[in-house]
Amino acid sequence: MDLETPLALLGPTFRMKRNVLAKVDLKTVEDLLLYIPFRYENYLVSKIGILQFGEQATIQGEVIALVNIFTKRSLSIQKITIEDETGKIDAVFFNQKFILSNIKKGNFVSFAGRVEKFGSKKILTVRSYEVLPEPNSEAIHTTGLVPVYSETRGLFSKWIRNRIKNLLEQVEIEEYLPENIIRENQLVSLSAAIRNIHFPKTHVEAERARIRLSFDELLIKHAASLIRKKEQEQKKKAIPFEIEKNRTKLRDLIKTLPFELTAAQKNAIEDVFNDLKKQTPMNRLLEGDVGSGKTVVAAIAAYLTFLNGYQTALMAPTEILANQHFNTIRTILELFGVKTELFTSSSKKPTAKSQQPKFDIAIGTHALIHKRAKFDNLGFVVIDEQQRFGVEQRAILKEKAVNPHLLSMTATPIPRTIFLTIYSDLALSVLNEMPKGRQKIKTWVVPEEKRERGYRWISDKIRAEKSQVFVVCPFIEPSETLTTVKAAKVEFERLKKEVFEGFKLGLLHGRLKTSKKNSVIEKFREGSIDILVATPVIEVGIDIPTADIMIVEAAERFGLAQLHQLRGRVGRGDKQSYCFLFTDARSEKALERLGYLQTIDNGPELAEIDLKLRGPGNMFGTAQHGIPDLKIASLSDLATIERARISAEQLFDKLNKYPILKQKVEEADIPKISRD
Ligand code: ADP
Ligand code: MG
Repeated sequence: MDLETPLALLGPTFRMKRNVLAKVDLKTVEDLLLYIPFRYENYLVSKIGILQFGEQATIQGEVIALVNIFTKRSLSIQKITIEDETGKIDAVFFNQKFILSNIKKGNFVSFAGRVEKFGSKKILTVRSYEVLPEPNSEAIHTTGLVPVYSETRGLFSKWIRNRIKNLLEQVEIEEYLPENIIRENQLVSLSAAIRNIHFPKTHVEAERARIRLSFDELLIKHAASLIRKKEQEQKKKAIPFEIEKNRTKLRDLIKTLPFELTAAQKNAIEDVFNDLKKQTPMNRLLEGDVGSGKTVVAAIAAYLTFLNGYQTALMAPTEILANQHFNTIRTILELFGVKTELFTSSSKKPTAKSQQPKFDIAIGTHALIHKRAKFDNLGFVVIDEQQRFGVEQRAILKEKAVNPHLLSMTATPIPRTIFLTIYSDLALSVLNEMPKGRQKIKTWVVPEEKRERGYRWISDKIRAEKSQVFVVCPFIEPSETLTTVKAAKVEFERLKKEVFEGFKLGLLHGRLKTSKKNSVIEKFREGSIDILVATPVIEVGIDIPTADIMIVEAAERFGLAQLHQLRGRVGRGDKQSYCFLFTDARSEKALERLGYLQTIDNGPELAEIDLKLRGPGNMFGTAQHGIPDLKIASLSDLATIERARISAEQLFDKLNKYPILKQKVEEADIPKISRD
């Protein structure tokens, strides 16, 4: 047996769990061995004779009696008496009758639990148990550091532990990293790492195992991205655009804009132009805080594409956003003879008779990639809020042409080290500057007892200055489920009846019909709605310059960068804007964390703080897609990231010498797409 062996071939134990295993993507021996515990229990073995009340302990000995006791209300207790050379004790289970068929008199067992008082006697309430084949066999569930895995229905830590223990005895693990890499980075061997990540003797051993496995994961991903980059440079031929000839026309366009471009926007546009004139397709990420003006950068590049005789496709994650982009871009470019067309699932379909209209720029949701838009000569693809799309969707759109230039846009700040390691085939432009005249959004963390006062202040503000308010409902689940929608409805009703009586309120959530969504947004935009209550998911990218107050409910549930993105919905006009972070969190830590938003006004900085305070899992909140999917490595482990990066650079073009590693890198690079 080796790492590649499919689990399904390993007998009925695995076959029975086929479906559950598939659900968590465990197909081969390697997949299971790399199913990493997220923590360890630490069990200490004690002799029965010296147990103390209240103590957590593991005892080992022979079963000398078993009994099932029925208690009132159809409950039952299973009492198993165990003896070692120092004494005996009753170990009890509650309502687990099946235990009595798993354990027999005369068995040697190992039980972990807590020593409690029962009358004047000591008993052990059992948390974890196992039967040992021989009196001195090694216990794997109840002694020392015991791995705890993330469980799903039908897949439990104990089962996983047994299988892994078993596989480890049979599998051959071949080292695939070059010796010098192992030495220079002071790594443990692969087989030691795989063994020790599951059954470490000490925490240090576990940590060294984790570092080795993280290193491998990062190295493989990074090498794959380096190879992809090289291939793109060598093989892929894109259409190089003519720039210099079009400079005057581009300048004329920029002159008609109602504002002066920021220096950061100008730089980003030049970055993009530089890529577009090359024969290799552009693959660039435009990163900038909410409101930094990414759309206009895309619009200008789309105009250049038009001037070169090619089409642009711009894909946005929601219909609202697609509509908004359509309006913005049409307004900017129509004057210059550019034809813009909107493709969403609710925009009207071309019938057989009315041919699809000719267009230069197609703007839409993912409806764009599903047959709707027919491209004759697509040259440039823009993906807005790219973290919202899956790999597949992005890839399919790119396949609408041979090698279109690609610009992805995001407000999610990805720390630079991570960017360099995982996305080395991607070039980066950052809009690190806000348009002139934007004022810092005054932000307050508002504890429960000041909520009423906050509401009053806002009411006055609406009356006196025609302020417009966004109310963002609590973040409940990552996707917009019925629970989220319901919470928004309840909040809407409450605010309408109890708080903002006499004002005009609107409700916006993902389950509304598109036409309804649009009309709500339009009303808010025109000013005939004062207060817009919305779910956290819906508002991505919405641009309403007159909105100047934001309330975020249950702010402690959001990541800092995410809150920063949310509040970026206000403060777009030249009016002073305000953000109220409502929270009933009491802990000093939570309040301190939110407090950073009162003083810091910079997305990447806030993201770094959250990375330190809460770890990477929470950093991006709902927008997790923007960051790489790492199974083992942690994005906060910058030292390992850095070492893996350097090693990948040394190795990626010498992989022929290391066939197993090469294969892993190639597999990491398999695009997860089916051509349509
Ligand atoms: P985001 O980067 O969040 O996508 P948008 O492209 O939606 O931001 O731009 C936000 C708002 O800022 C829009 O109303 C846009 O017209 C405006 N804007 C963009 N660039 C500038 C600029 N240089 N000066 C002033 N306003 C600008
Ligand atoms: Mg945007």
